Amino acid sequence: MLSAGDPRGALFKGGFMASFSEIIGMDSIIGSLRSSIQSGRVSHAYVFDGQAGMGKSTLAKALAKTLQCEAGGTDACGSCVSCRTFESGNHPDIFNVITDKKSIGVDDIRDQVIKPMETRPYRYRYKIFIIGGADTMTMAAQNALLKTIEEPAPYGLFLLLSENYNAFLPTVISRCVVFRLKPLSEENVANYLTGKDISEDQARFYSGFSQGNIGRALRLSSSQAFTEMRETVVSLTQALRRLDMPEIFARFHVLETYKEDIQELLDLLMLWYRDVIIMKETDNARFLIQPDKKNEIYAEAQATDLSCLYKKFDAIWQAKRNLKQNGNFQLTLEMMLLSLGSG
Ligand SMILES: [Zn+2]
Repeated sequence: MLSAGDPRGALFKGGFMASFSEIIGMDSIIGSLRSSIQSGRVSHAYVFDGQAGMGKSTLAKALAKTLQCEAGGTDACGSCVSCRTFESGNHPDIFNVITDKKSIGVDDIRDQVIKPMETRPYRYRYKIFIIGGADTMTMAAQNALLKTIEEPAPYGLFLLLSENYNAFLPTVISRCVVFRLKPLSEENVANYLTGKDISEDQARFYSGFSQGNIGRALRLSSSQAFTEMRETVVSLTQALRRLDMPEIFARFHVLETYKEDIQELLDLLMLWYRDVIIMKETDNARFLIQPDKKNEIYAEAQATDLSCLYKKFDAIWQAKRNLKQNGNFQLTLEMMLLSLGSG
């Protein structure tokens, strides 16, 4: 499955050496955190909210490391005992709250937050709890946490990572400083990827397809399965122009092998027609998200008229929607193939 892979640490230019200065594209959030540190107004609880792959965990780690750094600056020094212990993954006063269940339950909060909070930090200024998937906390878990963050011990600090800010109780949110992470600009992501030995054309594709989600861009750019899926999509579009209807219909079995990742495959297919339409309208490869396929895109733009391309684009969009609403898998995709093959 394409969802495999771990984007942790993805935002860093080097290895996992968490510090603010090494994170790209979050200048305003980091500026605000640093000025709170400088003026001694660090909150006891923060929420970092945003899609998977946008760097929530990276940001939380950089903040935790900075707050415990013995140099006491507004960024982690990277060389004191605290920084080095953190990098080795054994910091005694920074805790990752984890669960093996789908949601974080009250027992998890009791065992991993409330109990450790009863004792003072082992050595450093704070006891920091990084709660990944905090939006999955049950109501009981949130209420248990609430008691702790309402009247925190002076050393208690909570970093809540979430993908769905609306899942929190208003009482929890009201006690947290909330930062909502936005996708980076596609240019930012593309520049980052080219710095990692990815060609400019490829970087433009991955950043465009990921819409500024750097973790996703990195995961996909190193995924063989994704590369193969993309080639499948391109060859499908070529087949659609050559084959007769029964043969096109038979291509359902190719799509079926991607059942688990069908939305991503349909995104690729939509992107294909998006680029063909852009090429037809502008006659300029500069605006393509897939410049590495510009010859194939150009050929299709030449061969197909515009209203037909729009119809195909709509058919894919409709199929995406039907599948999201639990429409019949085979029927939906066969209807789509039929629309793609006609004209
Ligand atoms: Zn340090």
